[in-house]
Amino acid sequence: MDKITGDCRIAHPSPLPAKAHLGNQVSLTLNGHIVTTKIHLQLRTALTAPSLQDYIKRKEKWDDHIFFMIDWQAHGSYLASLPFPKRVNVIKMIHNWQYTKSRAMLFEETENSSCPMGCGMDETAMHHLGCSSLPASDLRSINRWMSHQNTAPPIQLAIMSSLKAWISDEPIPPFPGDTTDKLDRLTALAHTEQSLIGWT
Ligand SMILES: [Zn+2]
Repeated sequence: MDKITGDCRIAHPSPLPAKAHLGNQVSLTLNGHIVTTKIHLQLRTALTAPSLQDYIKRKEKWDDHIFFMIDWQAHGSYLASLPFPKRVNVIKMIHNWQYTKSRAMLFEETENSSCPMGCGMDETAMHHLGCSSLPASDLRSINRWMSHQNTAPPIQLAIMSSLKAWISDEPIPPFPGDTTDKLDRLTALAHTEQSLIGWT
């Protein structure tokens, strides 16, 4: 039995499907598996997830390969850890749904999309990261936050230079690591995947 459990843990990160019991009068089957727990959540996921995933893939121009590079489980746990108002703001940031002048123009609520700080550029979703008229750009606060979190300096540097290149529409510099070092190779792979997913 322990071997079965061990094999199952390696091969199936999620539990094995439940079997129908002769005594059951009713059961709910989704994607070929009987649902035994969190029925409301699983029904909602089955009803909404496919079209939501299609929408995100279309909007970001991601294929399935890129879509599944994202650790959605970690993403979900992080969002669930936030108080509701902050969660809403983070979701807006992630999906570029912030209320900017470019967005207001879409709904004809303003006549121009220029940055309210007067830097002369359009206020697009990620403009606040690099606006030259802001006394301290949000890029600097991201850098400070990483320092407080004791981020490894090469990773911090790579994230900062990649973010700067991404928002200026310039090519992303490759991760400068030692290819014989396992940790560097893993970090370089994560960096390459992030460049495919996008940096903002
Ligand atoms: Zn600006």
